[in-house]
Amino acid sequence: MSRPIVATINQQALRHNLTVVRQAAPASRVWSVVKANAYGHGIDRVRDALSATDGFALLNMEEAIQLREQGWKKPILLLEGFFHPDDLQLIDRYRLTTSVHSNWQINALAAARLSAPVDIYLKVNSGMNRLGFRPEQVNSAWQKLRALSNVGEMTLMAHFADAENPEGLIDPLQRIEQAAEGLNCPRSLSNSACTLWHPEAHFDWVRPGIVLYGASPSGDWQDIAGSGLQPVMTLSSEIIAVQQLQAGDGVGYGYRYRASSAQRIGVVACGYADGYPRHAPTGTPVCVDGVMTQVVGAISMDMITVDLTPCPQAGIGSAVELWGEQVKIDQVAKAAGTVGYELMCALAPRVPVRAI
Ligand SMILES: *Cc1c(COP(=O)(O)O)cnc(C)c1O
Repeated sequence: MSRPIVATINQQALRHNLTVVRQAAPASRVWSVVKANAYGHGIDRVRDALSATDGFALLNMEEAIQLREQGWKKPILLLEGFFHPDDLQLIDRYRLTTSVHSNWQINALAAARLSAPVDIYLKVNSGMNRLGFRPEQVNSAWQKLRALSNVGEMTLMAHFADAENPEGLIDPLQRIEQAAEGLNCPRSLSNSACTLWHPEAHFDWVRPGIVLYGASPSGDWQDIAGSGLQPVMTLSSEIIAVQQLQAGDGVGYGYRYRASSAQRIGVVACGYADGYPRHAPTGTPVCVDGVMTQVVGAISMDMITVDLTPCPQAGIGSAVELWGEQVKIDQVAKAAGTVGYELMCALAPRVPVRAI
């Protein structure tokens, strides 16, 4: 038998989450964001479940080509655009939509020899100051691109730094209005947080990522508890050993936890080399045999230790859910000082993945 750890990808939950997105933004088309190998879930495992989407958005040319070669005919958006002028040949061949965020990309589009015009997303810097043209530069960039025979449909695109905050869009939306003045163009502005919480930013295409996978854009599970979103990834394992501690006994590296009285603990086959966050402290929730309990002591490379006090019936072979339906990935992430996004993306290659 192999080590009992496994990540399960629930395709029914993905399908369902896409319908939740559709209900939240009924007038918009949907780019399902599948960058970072579908947030660690595996593009191949999510592609069919999300096939009702209007397009896939990602970063890597290789992943885009893979989708085309597997028969995906609807649009594919390169969220960071192209990284080198030569990439335009592949964008042309595979009929990809590319974002354009810098002047050198406009020059490359002007100079390229393409078989047909490519659709572009012109990126406005909404104030986040990562990618995009400043609002006052957008009109001139737009006109330059519009004049190129290599450019097909054009959409204005932006991303927000603080969309979880109810007030977080006020200033960026003003900048985008300024940029869009007189252009009468389609727009794509909304990540997951905007898709759920800012209908005023929906426009023509929304770009949800994290909500498709059933985690919260804010990092707080409570914020999506009423949304109907379902967790897609479950990380589970089993108890492989039990220790009976006496008062004062320590557990694991650095004896980071000590029993204050007699206590049974379980050793679980999952550690930071599987993608479990090493910073998760004592108290991080975990589910054993369907009962909620907590991690105790340091996270090791290959093991964690959990309190079995609330589940005295549990023993070797008991099922452990590290995150999934019962233990929300956001709760584990929060305890460890990170976000669900990072935990999903950091699922380690050594963990077998099973799609159901
Ligand atoms: C990752 C990304 C998204 C999706 O973000 P979520 O918070 O996961 O919904 C949308 N747009 C761009 C440009 C992105 O890079």
